[in-house]
Amino acid sequence: MTQGGPDRTHAVITGGGSGIGLAIARRMATAGYRLTLMGRRQERVEAAAAELPEAHPIAVDVTSEESVRDGFAKAAEIAPITVLINNAGAELAAPLQRTSLSQWHAMLAVNLTGVYLCTRQVVPGMVERKYGRIVTVASTAGLRGYAYTTAYTAAKHGAVGFTRALALELSRSGVTVNCVCPGFTDTDLVSRSLENISQRTGRNVEEAQKELERFNPQGRLVDPDEVAAAVVWLISADSTALTGQAISVSGGEVM
Ligand code: NAP
Repeated sequence: MTQGGPDRTHAVITGGGSGIGLAIARRMATAGYRLTLMGRRQERVEAAAAELPEAHPIAVDVTSEESVRDGFAKAAEIAPITVLINNAGAELAAPLQRTSLSQWHAMLAVNLTGVYLCTRQVVPGMVERKYGRIVTVASTAGLRGYAYTTAYTAAKHGAVGFTRALALELSRSGVTVNCVCPGFTDTDLVSRSLENISQRTGRNVEEAQKELERFNPQGRLVDPDEVAAAVVWLISADSTALTGQAISVSGGEVM
């Protein structure tokens, strides 16, 4: 076991069944972590868990207080939770006037309230054990604005603000709280965005992808494994002095 000993190695990853969450799970499994993968679709977290050495799938909707409470209670029975990766999220691209109130609430619920609900489940145990690592997968949209994403951008800015405040609240507790902020990353979430852009603008998907790649000074999409590498570094024993940070994994996109 690495990363601080057996009592420090049970990690919950929300949205761990796909994309960036699954890339994080694979890296953490290689580093010796015991994992619990959460997501709404049971079959998806089950399939992801089946490919990893020690991973438990639990169906959880991070927007529901009851579902989060039940899911984290089950996870805590496996072992004390020492690492939380708040990765579950969803994106919406729409002009403000076409962003309905229910879409606004849905964006805040999954990208911000979910972070609050899940984090509240783990903080007391981490503080009691004087050790914990919390990383939220926010976004470059937590650090800068993008047109046609008011709800998503507001929610991700909220997640960064939440992280900064909680890091200070817990600064002497042995618990660190950080964000990674990926730029456009090659996952289903971006594939869905590209389809939407293509439908709305009449451009083909390749052209739409080139548009997104232009935001990245390296001229490409980020690989999910590159985000995972940053997460694994943030939760390592070497990163004790890092807290309250929002690390951009974006090929140098200027914020
Ligand atoms: P993804 O493959 O669509 O992953 C999103 C994950 O979140 C899915 O596994 C999904 O599983 C889960 N999820 C969604 N709503 C949930 C809910 N209410 N409760 C529990 N789980 C839920 O996309 P991704 O790109 O890997 O996104 C992961 C994170 O990275 C998100 O927070 C996203 O905002 C962030 N991010 C992505 C990019 C990008 O360009 N791809 C850039 C910056 C930030 P279920 O549907 O089964 O619940």
